[in-house]
Amino acid sequence: MKDTTQSRIAVQDIRSQFPILTQKVNGRDLIYFDNAATSQKPLIVIDKIKNYYEKENANIHRGVHSLSQEATTAYEQARQKISSYLNAKSDSEIIFTKGTTDGINLIASSFGELLSPGDEIIISAMEHHSNIVPWQLLESRKKIKLKVVPIHKSGEIDLNAFEKLLNEKTKLVSITHISNSLGIINPINEIIRKSHLVGAKVLIDGAQSIQHEKIDLQELNCDFFVFSGHKVYGPTGVGVLYGKSELLNIMPPYQGGGDMIEKVSFEKTTFNVLPFKFEAGTPNIVGGIALGTAFDFIDSLNFEQCQVHELELLRYAEAQLNAIPTIKIFGTSKNKTSVISFNVGDIHPFDIGTLLDKQGVAVRTGHHCTQPIMDFYQIPGTIRVSFSIYNTKGEIDLFVAALNKSIQILS
Ligand SMILES: *Cc1c(COP(=O)(O)O)cnc(C)c1O
Repeated sequence: MKDTTQSRIAVQDIRSQFPILTQKVNGRDLIYFDNAATSQKPLIVIDKIKNYYEKENANIHRGVHSLSQEATTAYEQARQKISSYLNAKSDSEIIFTKGTTDGINLIASSFGELLSPGDEIIISAMEHHSNIVPWQLLESRKKIKLKVVPIHKSGEIDLNAFEKLLNEKTKLVSITHISNSLGIINPINEIIRKSHLVGAKVLIDGAQSIQHEKIDLQELNCDFFVFSGHKVYGPTGVGVLYGKSELLNIMPPYQGGGDMIEKVSFEKTTFNVLPFKFEAGTPNIVGGIALGTAFDFIDSLNFEQCQVHELELLRYAEAQLNAIPTIKIFGTSKNKTSVISFNVGDIHPFDIGTLLDKQGVAVRTGHHCTQPIMDFYQIPGTIRVSFSIYNTKGEIDLFVAALNKSIQILS
């Protein structure tokens, strides 16, 4: 496919590192526009996983034998790499999890134990279900109060309403950095600063920002930050929870088991230090190691130029979609990442998605795990296209042609 983008990244070089992009789907060249659901994996990550199982596999933190020590070193080096990429104060603030959902559940369970009846937690109306349901479970368990910041029609968060909800009872504000269904970037610096003024801690759901924004935890000053490996060129089943050590240290363990203990007896069990206190049982070892490799891949990119490229794709696609009269785009903020949610007249999103798939275009349709947003707009769902660094304007042209053809068939 011809590369016609303006940004100074070599898209074809990047594409050549992602083997799946040469796949045919339903006899057509794959056009993968479902990057907000999961990113594709570069060869260096795939090779790392294969190589690990062929040559390095052993359990970690346990054996005296060489393989076990090498695996332990590789796993801990991945932790260090991620810690320095995010600019954490200490490697021990980086907890390996199964992903974003697991990270939020860990905080709800453990930080949640420190809360008392009447304490308040604030989330927003644009959260992923994984940043809603764990707090609802905590609400019934600990008799805390969950409050929801509304959004404007544009999809942007209502900051005035947020300030009104904040008070000295607010113990945690848990908010997504970027909306997975609308692509809107939240003003998290302001949200973090205002929350801290009333003494509330802040959890940032970084599932959609880690791959699009440069994260500096010292600059952000959030108390917790969670993301999934699979959305940032890494494998599924692994993710990261960052927490400030002074908080993680006073939080009780989430799960009990091997590795998280210092000493076990039937009289008294004591717990391991951070990060191991929160990593019970044999972890996803190869996942952690390969997630480190995913950050090597990111380091090999010109990140700023990749951002320019993704924004060019966004503007290019928006312009083409806006030219189709029956199309309505949801989430119209200027402050967006490369995600577009839209509907076509009253055609069901699922029907469009099915016809696009027949033409080799992978998009997401439905509520995107954000049913409250769909209720807000009074729609059953949307069609969502989400672009990554390896996508091209040429692919957008083919997608728009396939979309027009689908609209013709369905109208
Ligand atoms: C994908 C996503 C999640 C959930 O991530 P999992 O990998 O399924 O645990 C949470 N929040 C946002 C904003 C997401 O995009």
